[in-house]
Amino acid sequence: MLKGLSAVVTGSTSGIGLGIAHVLASKGVNLVINGFGDAAAIEAERVNLETKHGIKAVYSGADISKPDEVKAMVDLCVSSFGKIDILVNNAGIQYTANLEDFPAEKWNAIIAINLSGVFWGMHAALPYMKEKGFGRIINIGSVHGLIGSTHKAAYVAAKHGVVGMSKVVALETAGTGVTCNTICPGWVHTPLVQKQIEDNAARDGISVEQATENLLSEKQPSKQFATPEQMGELAAFLCTDAAAQMTGIAIPVDGGWTAQ
Ligand code: NAD
Repeated sequence: MLKGLSAVVTGSTSGIGLGIAHVLASKGVNLVINGFGDAAAIEAERVNLETKHGIKAVYSGADISKPDEVKAMVDLCVSSFGKIDILVNNAGIQYTANLEDFPAEKWNAIIAINLSGVFWGMHAALPYMKEKGFGRIINIGSVHGLIGSTHKAAYVAAKHGVVGMSKVVALETAGTGVTCNTICPGWVHTPLVQKQIEDNAARDGISVEQATENLLSEKQPSKQFATPEQMGELAAFLCTDAAAQMTGIAIPVDGGWTAQ
């Protein structure tokens, strides 16, 4: 159903974004992939996406904290494939500290990437989508867009902002063929979470295995990680006609975390 559509997936060199890129590609979607990392590894992944799924993939090295680079990435999708049908704003970073100890540069970086980057992505893509009368914007929020946790002031502020901003875009695009929704993952085992597990293990003087078990037990009632592929399948569903009237919502995929 999605064959021949084209998508930008930010932060798709790792974790959830890479999972979403693979699921969209498996359904015939051409891709602009984006994110940081080793140039040879990124090129190998780009080729892998093309050969495994029979689609076209191009790479943008845009830094999502820079509005001009975000615009160039969206324009690259249009110049490569003639349109941008799907925008997945996924790139994100984390830093944890008590609010009074939060370094200014970490606050600024999290707001610039996790919140303003989403704004600039939609700012660049919406004119193209509105002109075509079709668009699917999928913002990767978090359970932390719905509730708080300690030590995550910047992240929680940014993710609540994404949930709210997505509602505004949903209202501004209602009836135009464009939808805008937020996926709110709980714990997904990616490098971003692995770092938090290792930090907790070092802080508490316990093994990484024990820290992993503690992390899940504390928040996620299923005690199981959600997977990047599950995020990808949900994103793909939101791109279908079945989801044409789903807009402005925030969908937790969190093993029951926010049901508590
Ligand atoms: P990850 O660290 O595995 O991947 C992050 C991706 O973003 C990488 O490709 C990285 O290169 C890219 N990136 C970071 N800064 C960038 C920048 N300035 N410009 C361009 N690309 C940049 O992390 P992940 O866990 O896959 O997280 C992806 C998204 O999911 C984030 O928005 C995160 O907040 C959200 N999320 C993750 C979890 C989880 O449990 N892993 C839970 C809820 C929400």
